[in-house]
Amino acid sequence: MKTIKGLIAAGLAETEAARRITRDENMRRVYSDFPELKDIDGKIIDIRKNRLIAAIDHDERLAKRYDIEEESLIAQRELIISDNCIDPEFDMEKPICTKCGDTGFVKGKDGTPKVCSCKQSELEECYESCGLGDYTSFTMKNYRDDYLGESEKRAGIKKKMLRVMLGMEDEGGKALWIYSGAPQTGKTYLAVCIAKLAISLGKSAYYTKCENLATLENDTIEDIKRIDFLIIDDFADDVTLHGDIGSVLNNVLEIRTAAGLCTILVSALPLTDLIGGCDMRVSGKLGRAGKIS
Ligand SMILES: [Zn+2]
Repeated sequence: MKTIKGLIAAGLAETEAARRITRDENMRRVYSDFPELKDIDGKIIDIRKNRLIAAIDHDERLAKRYDIEEESLIAQRELIISDNCIDPEFDMEKPICTKCGDTGFVKGKDGTPKVCSCKQSELEECYESCGLGDYTSFTMKNYRDDYLGESEKRAGIKKKMLRVMLGMEDEGGKALWIYSGAPQTGKTYLAVCIAKLAISLGKSAYYTKCENLATLENDTIEDIKRIDFLIIDDFADDVTLHGDIGSVLNNVLEIRTAAGLCTILVSALPLTDLIGGCDMRVSGKLGRAGKIS
């Protein structure tokens, strides 16, 4: 799986190259329009080299002469630039994205860093690689608190899910959480949106249905043991009894809980049914999990 930080870092070399090309193009254009400026800049470079040699030779008199010559050239340069309304930074590399300065992250209103809008394609690629590829249309903006007329309860659950994802809920340092709610109440929609939000805040996150734990590649299983945030949807007691699922799940939860990494299990069944019917190793962990409902 890919993380958003990894994807942004991988694009850095390309962004740097783009910055250099833009600067080179600016310089070529300005020098072609104002050859006298190119001439002065060439002279300044030569003087600085000579000034360096004079300094190494301890020839202070000569060094001083170069200083005076450079000052005069810089004054001429500034005059050409201001008289012709040339961008004084035409020969400097500038960020391609002024919002994030090409770091890929901007500070949100509350001060938390989030992925900049210029990295939308990296976000999409990350969603795709983190189990969220089938849910392109799911957005937090469209999650309706008043759906089914239980707006207060739904808003409360949404808030708690957000706080759990952000590590703000502290019930004795719980890392494992269970979000249990009736079928058809938008649990998957909310779970997907929370996972996407975690990624857009720079976290490594993954979303999977519980039954798919049996088909994930070994590399992905290793990754999800260590990522910041994991959501396992459609969690049900009987699923944990199929094939390897109980064993994989137990192993993943064991490592994540020990490392204090947040995992949310989403289920349509009440917690008591889950604890009673699950693979025994998993059910032992459920008793100690935090509750979202
Ligand atoms: Zn940006």
